[in-house]
Amino acid sequence: MKPTVVLVGRPNVGKSTLFNRLTRSRDAIVADMPGLTRDRHYGHGRVGDKPYLVVDTGGFEPVVKEGILHEMAKQTLQAVDEADVVVFIVDGRTGLTAQDKVIADKLRRSGRSVHLVVNKAEGMNRGSVTAEFHELGLGEPVAISASHGEGVRELMELVLADLPDVTEEEGKKPTHPKFAIVGRPNVGKSTLVNSILGEERVIAFDLPGTTRDSIYIDFERSGKQYTIIDTAGIRRRGKVKEAIEKFSVIKTLQSAEDANVVVLVLDAQQEISDQDAGIAGFILESGRALVVAVNKWDGLDDYRRDRIKHDLDRKLKFLGFAKFHFISALHGKGVGALLQSIDEAYSAAMANLSTPKLTRVLLAAVQKQAPPRKGPVRPKMRYAHQGGMNPPIVVVHGSGLDEIPESYVRYLEHTFVEVFKLQGTPLRVQFKQSH
Ligand code: GDP
Ligand code: GDP
Repeated sequence: MKPTVVLVGRPNVGKSTLFNRLTRSRDAIVADMPGLTRDRHYGHGRVGDKPYLVVDTGGFEPVVKEGILHEMAKQTLQAVDEADVVVFIVDGRTGLTAQDKVIADKLRRSGRSVHLVVNKAEGMNRGSVTAEFHELGLGEPVAISASHGEGVRELMELVLADLPDVTEEEGKKPTHPKFAIVGRPNVGKSTLVNSILGEERVIAFDLPGTTRDSIYIDFERSGKQYTIIDTAGIRRRGKVKEAIEKFSVIKTLQSAEDANVVVLVLDAQQEISDQDAGIAGFILESGRALVVAVNKWDGLDDYRRDRIKHDLDRKLKFLGFAKFHFISALHGKGVGALLQSIDEAYSAAMANLSTPKLTRVLLAAVQKQAPPRKGPVRPKMRYAHQGGMNPPIVVVHGSGLDEIPESYVRYLEHTFVEVFKLQGTPLRVQFKQSH
């Protein structure tokens, strides 16, 4: 599983600046998706071929009242608790503050692996800017400049060095759908898992164990093998008190990363919330195949049904590649069809796209609508091959390809999706220059 790096520090030290720098290249993928409100706290980063998740706890802070040392927000502590590594940022210009000491103390007691980072160090002597921070007792401070990008790569190499290697696009090719059921609390995830597995099975798997991890359950249906990643099970296993919970966004995102298909569960009897859209945006960024289950469809009149459809259309437009199912987990309605879409999304995500066919489709698409010329060079697209799966990546080779407009990229994506009938997975087109 990808490691999770959590950025912590008092306000204004540069957490969001560093977050933006770490996630920038990934963000570009989804930057112009219509309707997508990107969640600014959770993102994907990568150093070399090492991917990781990154969390900016900045937005979790309560408003700080003048002169009062505020405690770290609960959400920040929870994020620290679930982090593989914590990056604790201090400000080299203001120097060591009392608040830094309070945070350092909490981090030391968390037992997490912590890297102390002195930001805003551009143009300053590394030795002298870091000197006073040794006092925090968190090891050798690393000087960086988040806004200038100095020392950031080295920092992330250091941060990831001690963690087990997860190279992207590596490992065994999956053999069957492994799907995560995600969504905010109370949308009906547990009920859906019950409905998919049948009551007895869930109880059979309801064994005591660690309370924090998601539950992985293998099952068979109509002769087909599946693995379900049950994030709600965390709570079901715990005491009732914990039920009122602690919704773990990080665990949700990690489960989505570890799955090859994500089932996003929404509650038709509620408005689509920012939290729903935030989770959806993150899934889109992860490139996983997706099926949307709009649950609690029972007991709604036509007017309410129209309204929710309208709401979905407006707020989750960017999930246009996914199939939407209107189901009732409670009554087991629509669950069979949902599984069929999971199969379909899985096959699409894992499809093998042959080079000759991709090239034929590419050239036909170009002939139908040529890429617009920008500047003196006319873009020339020569051939295409598959560069990855889950999501499928199509690499287009040619020349003059550095300024292909986004709208044309979308045109090619749609064409490939349509011709290869890839329902349920995003598809990405990348360009490679050859002269
Ligand atoms: P956060 O509250 O911890 O998320 O801090 P921000 O990322 O919002 O940064 C706070 C301020 O510090 C902003 O004005 C940034 O432009 C500035 N800042 C961030 N990183 C650097 C840096 O490396 N050098 C300098 N000089 N300023 C920085
Ligand atoms: P979770 O927090 O996402 O796991 O949600 P639960 O599965 O615990 O369900 C939350 C509440 O919604 C429970 O009271 C369920 O009985 C109810 N619920 C779940 N699915 C449905 C449904 O399809 N229709 C209706 N009307 N209620 C449902």
